[in-house]
Amino acid sequence: MSTWLVTGGSRGIGRAVVEQAAAAGADVATFSRSPAADRAGLPERVLEVKTDVTDPESIRRGVETVREQFGGIDVVVNSAGVHRGGRIDGIDRESWDEVLATNLTGAFEVCRAVTPVLREGAAVVNVGAVVGLRGFPGDVAYGSAKAGLSGLTQVLAVELAPRGIRVNLVVPGFVDTDMTAGLNERARQRVVDTIPFGRTGTAREIAEVIVAVARSTYMTGATVPVDGGLLATFGGGR
Ligand code: NAP
Repeated sequence: MSTWLVTGGSRGIGRAVVEQAAAAGADVATFSRSPAADRAGLPERVLEVKTDVTDPESIRRGVETVREQFGGIDVVVNSAGVHRGGRIDGIDRESWDEVLATNLTGAFEVCRAVTPVLREGAAVVNVGAVVGLRGFPGDVAYGSAKAGLSGLTQVLAVELAPRGIRVNLVVPGFVDTDMTAGLNERARQRVVDTIPFGRTGTAREIAEVIVAVARSTYMTGATVPVDGGLLATFGGGR
């Protein structure tokens, strides 16, 4: 039996990972600030631990709870994230700080807290974004945070390799979740027009790749896009 910790496991991509890992028989714990609004389809043994990844003390308590309940950890998925848009001439410092604190420093602090309790051969999967690998106007904070996650992934892959711990980055394109639900139809269509597949992805499709990457045995420090072909184009769409 393996133990998984999924940050941002209450909703969206993280939630889909939780469902797939639990269905395969894993013990799963989640970190989020609020509990899942709907536990339908989640086995009783999925442990929701109220944790704010922007608060190192909250993370420390959360990891301790998981350790007490399940012992060591085999897989950590850093999916907790927030998006705040804004160009360099418009973004306020508060939005920048929130995005960096959650998407980048949060993942760093979770990795730092779990490293001592990761079992040999464990896996960390960080959830990046296409805009962390390509310049997308209006995403100065989010793109910078996700680019930082790419660096964190590679450094940790090397540092933790002697313990047989793999660290990889899965890079979703545009996925239908609460994070993207606020986009108006016109803006959404403009994004869809740039995707070679001509459609957005689902949380389930991203989770399938996260689970496969977590289970791989010889992949580390890798960047794995799941984006309907977004990164393969020069922006010309289909
Ligand atoms: P989502 O549906 O908005 O879910 C975000 C999750 O993160 C929730 O469980 C949320 O729970 C949690 N979270 C946010 N801030 C947190 C904090 N301070 N502490 C603990 N948990 C926190 O978003 P999603 O679309 O599934 O995104 C998941 C990951 O994929 C993110 O890293 C995102 O950047 C990345 N991504 C998404 C897309 C996309 O198109 N949707 C594309 C590329 C990458 P609480 O609010 O209750 O804390």
